[in-house]
Amino acid sequence: MLKVYTLKEHPRTEEYHLFMATPQPEGKCTPEKKSMCRAMDNIKGSKFACKDEKTAFIECAKLGKSVCGNCMKELYGNNE
Ligand SMILES: [Zn+2]
Repeated sequence: MLKVYTLKEHPRTEEYHLFMATPQPEGKCTPEKKSMCRAMDNIKGSKFACKDEKTAFIECAKLGKSVCGNCMKELYGNNE
């Protein structure tokens, strides 16, 4: 099944974590309870939401170091 990605900012560390999400109608999606690196719980609000893999990739690259390295690794892993 196709997955989309949502990026959220950790309230304490201000680091961005990626959440895998299941697409819903009308461009919405439901993120998983834990970030891809498992270090962050799902919270309200997001930097971006429901992007496909390629777009999520580009957006994370733009944000650079503030994106969690382990989440990025997971995203790369899914690309293989
Ligand atoms: Zn992470």
